[in-house]
Amino acid sequence: MSARLLLLEDDPAIARTVAYALERDGLVVTHSLLVHDARQQMAAHRFDLLVLDVGLPDGSGLDLLRDLRNAVPTAATPVLMLSAHGEEIDRVLGLELGADDYLTKPFSPRELAARVKALLRRAGKGPAATATPLFHDDEAGQRISLRGQALPLTRREYRLLAHLLRGAGRIHARDALLAAAWGDDSDSTDRTVDTHIKTLRAKLREVDPGREYISTHRGMGYCIDI
Ligand code: CA
Repeated sequence: MSARLLLLEDDPAIARTVAYALERDGLVVTHSLLVHDARQQMAAHRFDLLVLDVGLPDGSGLDLLRDLRNAVPTAATPVLMLSAHGEEIDRVLGLELGADDYLTKPFSPRELAARVKALLRRAGKGPAATATPLFHDDEAGQRISLRGQALPLTRREYRLLAHLLRGAGRIHARDALLAAAWGDDSDSTDRTVDTHIKTLRAKLREVDPGREYISTHRGMGYCIDI
């Protein structure tokens, strides 16, 4: 059964992109614009995970979080908080009040989706809880398999993919990837990264033609979505 998620976010544009990313991953998303509505939804339905914005027109997501943690049905429900840029105090307070994870705006919807999936897995609700892992990184042998099938990777490709996987859901700048996979080899450039990403994509497609794992973020870098 699909995991049910409540998204409390008063910015319609953010809510739309977030809901789209989560629904694409098979989650059922209920969206509330106001704290009042979120409370009603939670009184009527059970949710597997809550994504709560902090600043809302009729109150604070932090106050709601405090109430949720004190109520038996929602005391252990995973909560991911969203807050405006630079509100460090919200982050600290959110974690103290029992939020399981925290994202500061602006964030990539894919990063949010990756974090949500990780929280669901931790709670035993994710699809990966029972299935074999999508990617397996055998660090000692410098080998990675996808869906149980070993990928024929060069040493650079292995290091590139391993680095992307360790920071799955995050956008990695080309120079960071360069440093991770090439060290201080001065002959390498951003182009080198692009070329290797291209061959890596082709190798992933050989095993799983139905899915594009590595996404390009213009002017920012690359991200692996799992
Ligand atoms: Ca807001």
